[in-house]
Amino acid sequence: MFNFLLKMEKEILDNNRKRPIELISAGNKRARLDRRNQKDRDRRKNESEEEKNIRLAKRRQRDRARRADETPQQRGAKLVKMSTQQQKRLTSETPEARDARLQQLSTSKKQHLATETSLERSSRLQKLSTSQKQRLAMETSEKKAYRLQKLSTSQKQRLAMETPEKKASRLQKLSTSQKQRLAMETPEKKASRMQNLTTSQKQHLATQTSEERAARLHKLSTLQKERLATETLEERTERLEILERSRAVRQATYPGAHLALLEQENVQKKMARFHQDMSLIECHTCSTCMEKFPGVKFSTHTSQCLRCSRDNITPKLYSAENNMHPGSAPPQLQVLYIIKLSLTISMTTIQTSINNNFFTTQYF
Ligand SMILES: [Zn+2]
Repeated sequence: MFNFLLKMEKEILDNNRKRPIELISAGNKRARLDRRNQKDRDRRKNESEEEKNIRLAKRRQRDRARRADETPQQRGAKLVKMSTQQQKRLTSETPEARDARLQQLSTSKKQHLATETSLERSSRLQKLSTSQKQRLAMETSEKKAYRLQKLSTSQKQRLAMETPEKKASRLQKLSTSQKQRLAMETPEKKASRMQNLTTSQKQHLATQTSEERAARLHKLSTLQKERLATETLEERTERLEILERSRAVRQATYPGAHLALLEQENVQKKMARFHQDMSLIECHTCSTCMEKFPGVKFSTHTSQCLRCSRDNITPKLYSAENNMHPGSAPPQLQVLYIIKLSLTISMTTIQTSINNNFFTTQYF
């Protein structure tokens, strides 16, 4: 029995000795991989452009095949591992290494973008847009606020550091792309855009405080003054021409817009309507209280106002029998101008609306 065990042990030891030692020891494995990597690097240094392309194509194909075979779990695990490794690499990175890495990344991205076909480009942008939409749809309000805050800060920083040439070039680009977009816009899109603009502007104006309003108007006025002070002769001529054109358009749309308000045809028409409305207002005199006011209601079949007809006490409160009639106005008060008259007499205000314009008159 003992001999048997001894023999077994010797066999196991022999087997272990026959296997390559590198496979067992972790340190040796590392060394072997390093040697292999070094050999690969040396080979890559000497390879021609053609060889390199072949190698990269092969690698891409291999990667693609591997990706096609892997299950979602495998893929998830791989991404987690990659992300962990990357984080580890990034935290231990020196500033110089970081700059170099970003520089390289930017260069290779530029190269890639410069060589991509229009089909690749549109597919890339489509993918980008889809993933962005998905991300934005799942974003919480806190994350959104944080993102917008960050965006605004970085934009401000970028704008503050911008040189005048860069600024001019940026604005030029912006203006060109905007013009292109506007030129390709369909009439429906334009109408919708204008509608949106008006709505948002109205909302903005409706919610602004009086200080904000004052600040806005002040800024506007200052800008206009600055513009007028620095405008060249050509600019002035152009501005006046535009003004003249818009005046002509207004005049064509509203004939007589250049006339004084009371001479304009539409104003005269509205005034005529107003006088007609006024003439239709009935003004009866109550036989008891002698009151004569437009809109005073009369009880049916009598010449008395509602107040007097409901007064069942004899004599009635506002009657001559109760000594409540002052008689005719004294001669001194019968020759007053309208302003003095309005100070001595009770008045009523009549307001009518014609085409949403309110007209007001005083009745004596
Ligand atoms: Zn009366």
